Amino acid sequence: MEKETKKVHTNIGKEDSFGGLNMPIYHSAAFGFPSAKAMADAFVGRSDAPTYSRVANPTVSFFEERVKQLSGAKNVFAFNSGMAAISNAMIALTASGKNIVTSAHLFGNTVSLLKNTLGRFGVETRFVDLLDPEAVTSAIDENTAFVFLEIITNPQMEVADIRSLSAITREKKIPLIADTTIIPFTQFSASELGVDIEVLSSTKYISGSASSLGGLVIDYGNFPQLYRSLKFELLYNLGSYMTPQVAFMQTLGLETVDLRYKVQADNALELAKRLKETPGIQDVNYVGLEDNPFHELAKAQFGGTFGAMLTIDLEDKQKCYEFIDHLQLISRATNLFDSKSLAIHPASTIFGAFAGSQRRAMNVRDNTIRLSIGMESVNDLYEDIVQALGNNI
Ligand SMILES: *Cc1c(COP(=O)(O)O)cnc(C)c1O
Repeated sequence: MEKETKKVHTNIGKEDSFGGLNMPIYHSAAFGFPSAKAMADAFVGRSDAPTYSRVANPTVSFFEERVKQLSGAKNVFAFNSGMAAISNAMIALTASGKNIVTSAHLFGNTVSLLKNTLGRFGVETRFVDLLDPEAVTSAIDENTAFVFLEIITNPQMEVADIRSLSAITREKKIPLIADTTIIPFTQFSASELGVDIEVLSSTKYISGSASSLGGLVIDYGNFPQLYRSLKFELLYNLGSYMTPQVAFMQTLGLETVDLRYKVQADNALELAKRLKETPGIQDVNYVGLEDNPFHELAKAQFGGTFGAMLTIDLEDKQKCYEFIDHLQLISRATNLFDSKSLAIHPASTIFGAFAGSQRRAMNVRDNTIRLSIGMESVNDLYEDIVQALGNNI
């Protein structure tokens, strides 16, 4: 079957009792067994019968199976947020005395997870420039657990060369983990680029109209420790598995993700082009623009699409606040890839807890606004932006 078909037909080799065409929501904490033997088989992994919804649930397994068939991965784990997916994958692969090599240009909570949370347990993070292969190579030593990157950093919009990072990690025999939230995993093959493990926030494109939080670990099977640790230890001990209601919504979201994404990414590109010519905007940062320094690399890596997030730079922070306060259609909200467009001032919100010097080191500027572009008419979005800038239309 081709991808379009797999998106709406996921074969799990079992018939629903009532012939339901959607996988039902199995809202049950525990599952019964016909015998002591069947129970033992399930508990030690000799069968895949569900036991307890902290570690396995039919509705969640169905969602995982659909992601697995679409990505071609060996294993997929669904968690109750993107951060749960990221933290579980990291914890599975590291330990006290180990180190992690990554960039300082990461999602704010991921930076804090590395520095504060994992740091407290004796895991060191080495923040380097992932655009510089030599810096990456020299940061890796025999205690490096993995290299971690985001495919398009937010809000800096940097794109690293994934194949060249993968050449380094393959040579060192350590995993390359990529946070692929910014472009749906259905749009390009991270594994063909050399990524060993994908982590992502399914809260974003996949959930559909921002209905729910979720996260995925998509494991291409090159480092079996990940599967063992997640499946037999961390699902049990950390308790951050996805819930059935959410899995149901995100299974539906996955059926339409590429249709929604196409509209949103097309809107983002058209808007970026118009905003570039708009008075009052100093700069537009979107990798889909041909003069963007990362355009060619992004085009080669991500299947010719560029996401639905862009940033604009205004004169200063004051102008950013005025702009945001005057928006009428675009919502003042965090989150990305809702069907509705969203605007936020990252420096004072997502990165508000960081000191000014830390923000400067992360290249999070005071005069930048992040826009997540939805499915509205581009004309309406453009009109809202122009009026919020105080320009005449
Ligand atoms: C939103 C986001 C996350 C965190 O996901 P949640 O579902 O909010 O926990 C991680 N990485 C990136 C790049 C994100 O945009």
